[in-house]
Amino acid sequence: MTQPIIVTGGAGFIGSNFVLDWIAEVGSPVINLDRLTYSGNLHNLDGLADDPRHHFVQGDIGDRELVRRLFEEHRPRAVVNFAAESHVDRSIDSPGEFIQSNIVGVFNLLEEARRYWGALTGEERTDFRFLHVSTDEVYGTLGPTDPPFTECHPYAPNSPYSASKASSDHLVRAYHHTYGLPVLTTNCSNNYGPYQFPEKLIPLMIFNALEGKGLPVYGDGTNIRDWLYVLDHCRAIRRVLEAGRTGETYNIGGNFEKTNLEVVKTLCALLDELVPDSPHRPFESLIEFVTDRPGHDWRYAIDPTKTRDELGWEPAETFDSGMRKTVKWYLENGERLRAQIDHDRERLGLGG
Ligand code: NAD
Repeated sequence: MTQPIIVTGGAGFIGSNFVLDWIAEVGSPVINLDRLTYSGNLHNLDGLADDPRHHFVQGDIGDRELVRRLFEEHRPRAVVNFAAESHVDRSIDSPGEFIQSNIVGVFNLLEEARRYWGALTGEERTDFRFLHVSTDEVYGTLGPTDPPFTECHPYAPNSPYSASKASSDHLVRAYHHTYGLPVLTTNCSNNYGPYQFPEKLIPLMIFNALEGKGLPVYGDGTNIRDWLYVLDHCRAIRRVLEAGRTGETYNIGGNFEKTNLEVVKTLCALLDELVPDSPHRPFESLIEFVTDRPGHDWRYAIDPTKTRDELGWEPAETFDSGMRKTVKWYLENGERLRAQIDHDRERLGLGG
């Protein structure tokens, strides 16, 4: 397979893991379109610096002229859309950017995909796919005994972030039903693993712990999330792209429901073991409870039965094996990641 794919947001956390995994496992070229916002880090892709199969383009998914040019020049067989503003706390402080990238940006990308696909013929037309990467947060929150979210669960987003993702999911769906665009949507649970921007729970806790800083846990720490190792998510996306039925949604999750407090305690135990000389051990003593975020969803849980039964996908990592890999990765690469990000923040004139 030599026809390229376009990956958007491929310098971010999941996108860069996906690009690295795609080049290693599939090997066809990737056109990586990323605006390089605060959370994009091109260094994540340093390993591909001399690889002709990776072509990076800095730009916005909402830039119709640029996107049109990329479609015309590269004639991709698929678009995998990761590009988004992704941090719930930031969406509470400044929702406007979420509306712009996650809704207007996706609309523009869909329009250009529709234009490109509309002019294709033969196999190129039959094989084309638009895969939209979304989140379990669009389904809202669950009570303690509710069954996990299936693909039929009604949408009930509660934050500007999840509402913007829900809107883009609806647009993607509508482009299939109205125009026949061959779309696929994936809704995944919380990811963790290498290259995550350190404002998110897991890298934040690791960095703070190593410096002996407090480990801030929202509320009483009982909020529940379903956690998936990022490469398992990437493999699932590849599988959906390969064999998913167009117009369908696939839920992706590992059935690893944990309270936030359990996650932080797991990290602390791993750090106690892996950094035995730290003066900050036992790391659990650094945990502190802070005022909850407004509208904080209590529980998310994903039912991945459809993805497993239809596509044969299963996560390769358990919560314990994935967390161990992740902590080891940050111990080996965390300082480098942070130095790159600090350097970029200076260049972009962003605060600390
Ligand atoms: P991230 O913030 O690490 O990366 C997002 C990337 O998109 C960045 O590189 C950024 O520069 C780029 N970007 C933002 N706006 C853009 C625009 N308008 N045009 C081009 N590029 C733009 O986010 P992530 O955690 O890697 O999430 C990727 C996708 O996966 C998002 O759509 C998110 O909703 C979804 N998702 C994330 C998780 C998770 O746990 N992180 C779980 C499920 C789904």
